[in-house]
Amino acid sequence: MMMAAGGAVAALVYSSVADMPVFKPSDINFAEASDIYDESDNFVTRIGFENREEIDISEVPEIVKNAFIAIEDNRFKEHMGVDPYRIMGAAWADIKSGSLKEGASTITQQLVRQSIEAISTEKKFKRKIQEAILAIQMERHFTKDEILENYLNGIYLGEGAYGIQAAAQTYFSKDVSQLTVEEAALLAGLPQAPSAYNPFNNPEDAKERRNIVIKQMAQYGYINANEAEEARNKEIVLDKGKKTTNEYPYPYYRDYVIRMLKEKVGLTDPDIFSQGLKIYTTLSPEIQQHAEKAVQNKEYYPPPMQDSNGNPVGNDGAAVVLDPHTGHIKALVGSKDPNPNQMAWNKATHEQRRPGSTFKPIIAYGPAVEYLGKSPASVFDDIPTSIGNYSPSNYGGTYYGLITMRYALTKSQNVVAVKLLQETGLNKAVDFAANLGFENDRKQIMESGLAAALGGLKYGVTPLQMAAAYGTFANNGIYTEPIAIRRVEKQDGTVLYESKPEKHRAMKETTAVIITDMLQDVARKGTGTNATKGITVPLAGKTGTADNSQNKTADVWFAGYSPDLVTVTWVGSDNQRVKLNGKWPGAYGATYPSYIWNDIMSNIYKDSTPKNNFTSPRAAGLVRATVDSKSGKLPGPHTPEDHLVTDWFVPGTVPTEVDDTHVLMEVCAVNGKLPSIYCTQRVTKVFIKLPYKVSEKVKDYELRAPTEICDMHTEENNDGWLPNMDELNPWAPVDENEQPTQEGEQQNNSDSQENQDDKNNKKPNDKKED
Ligand SMILES: [Zn+2]
Repeated sequence: MMMAAGGAVAALVYSSVADMPVFKPSDINFAEASDIYDESDNFVTRIGFENREEIDISEVPEIVKNAFIAIEDNRFKEHMGVDPYRIMGAAWADIKSGSLKEGASTITQQLVRQSIEAISTEKKFKRKIQEAILAIQMERHFTKDEILENYLNGIYLGEGAYGIQAAAQTYFSKDVSQLTVEEAALLAGLPQAPSAYNPFNNPEDAKERRNIVIKQMAQYGYINANEAEEARNKEIVLDKGKKTTNEYPYPYYRDYVIRMLKEKVGLTDPDIFSQGLKIYTTLSPEIQQHAEKAVQNKEYYPPPMQDSNGNPVGNDGAAVVLDPHTGHIKALVGSKDPNPNQMAWNKATHEQRRPGSTFKPIIAYGPAVEYLGKSPASVFDDIPTSIGNYSPSNYGGTYYGLITMRYALTKSQNVVAVKLLQETGLNKAVDFAANLGFENDRKQIMESGLAAALGGLKYGVTPLQMAAAYGTFANNGIYTEPIAIRRVEKQDGTVLYESKPEKHRAMKETTAVIITDMLQDVARKGTGTNATKGITVPLAGKTGTADNSQNKTADVWFAGYSPDLVTVTWVGSDNQRVKLNGKWPGAYGATYPSYIWNDIMSNIYKDSTPKNNFTSPRAAGLVRATVDSKSGKLPGPHTPEDHLVTDWFVPGTVPTEVDDTHVLMEVCAVNGKLPSIYCTQRVTKVFIKLPYKVSEKVKDYELRAPTEICDMHTEENNDGWLPNMDELNPWAPVDENEQPTQEGEQQNNSDSQENQDDKNNKKPNDKKED
């Protein structure tokens, strides 16, 4: 067994040496910075090289050198480039396990890996052996101090810091000569996993790792037991300081690009920061600047809220702008903080927040149009409703009664959205949402039940997800995966990665066109007016408000689009875990996020107009029909003129039944109740008659047929008048010709939706928020 393995190693070594590069001292060239380019191939910024400060080994304190040696390569001073003890043990373990661990590498080998590009990257074993041989050659050309100096200047230590000096500045705002034992140990612990041990993000793990380094330092005699004990007990004290060597343009966009280089392209930190890559992105510097300026504007944020102990809870914001046809992300702003840490938490791409009513088109309206053939003129009764033990309520307690789907969306009436979701069924609605980029959110949507119709999700969704979902409506039903990276080239121009547009049809074109048509009304006449004010290009969009009930964050949104650009803005409270006390004054989808949205879009469209227009309903094959706005059916004999509405229908979905909710009824002329046999003054009017009663607070209550019998005219006070027995039955049909009232024979009235709006708008307490 041992013999066979030995033979295999020998064969590997032979084949590895056969084509290995010849070592030249000049090969030690560090890190070539990678360059990021914008959507037009213009240079934006350089990543990797900017945060490096090379220092002479004589300036590095012994304690710092020893910290790295203790943890990375304790026999560094003695070995000749490779450490036979380590490599034999590790190689044997690797062969047994079939995997490769980096633990066998000496500092010299690590330097070889960092600095010599020509090493074969095809095969791991082969690379290892080449590295070892080059390390031995390197040791012949350089002193130990030179090797250590190059190593300490080149090593990546997280937060974009290359080399010990940049890292000392980044984490402690100190010169390397001022580092303490515990600080040196913390930095020495980073090369193994700079992100996982990042003390800004993972202080516990960083401390644990630091203390392992301290233990090794003591074990090898670089510090004594007392010094080790003292250092171990020190808390980690970080100081980002004023010296931000990490200032660069468009930090959130740049960081997202780096993240995607890892997640999508599969590159590592050393690849990204030191291989001289050319990274072509979809960034629009102009739009990015507009978006940053708007998100950072303090006037667009409400005052801080308070937690239950009266402590202030701050707030933050984010924005995404993308092209719905290509998925190209034009701008990303992950926080209102203009100078974040490198790789700071990006709230545009990674923060899940409850979308409130911006979710309605995705989970309620879209699915109802797609699967149930609903039209904007379909009618729902917007009245206090309980489904099981779930009783959704409308914002401000306003119930409009029988309204069209278009009107309900314009006013963001919650009850109607819940009814739509209930009628469609949660399972089908979740399928629809999954197609719009919420595949991984199926579980949390299902668990939310019908509250999902109002965006009351357990965790929430990201602004980027919302932008991609709304982009599907803007792109006639085709979902396009958002991308930030178009192409990555190696230094020599070889293409390392090229993005392929990932698209799929998520809904019928007619569904997308109907939703866009309705959302244009929302944007212009409904809750979206603050967002669209002063912008003359075609716009569609929706507000969203998730209040801070149930110990959740308060989150407010605007999601909207022109034919060319989708923009989603979010403003929300800072801390997810803090119980908030009371309301967030004036914070609705129609306020703060709408102000940010308006700022971004009005700047974009100040001197330009979209290349396209929204696909017209007619071009998408929709047909126009006039129906009764209280039943959604064809106008009936008693449909009054102001209860007609004309809207778009998918062919085959125009109703065929005739309205039967409008009826002519005789009522007591004095109080409008059903006439008793003693009522002498009676009047015949058109009422809406449905088999259930509604609350008086419903706005069309007065149009509904009375159910109580007149108690004013009774036997006691009828002055001896005897009733006519013919009139005993108040429900008896009435001859229409005798008492003509408003007749329902009117034809097409294209403005009847306006009539309905006007009628409802007359009522007091007409809140615009949802
Ligand atoms: Zn009466």
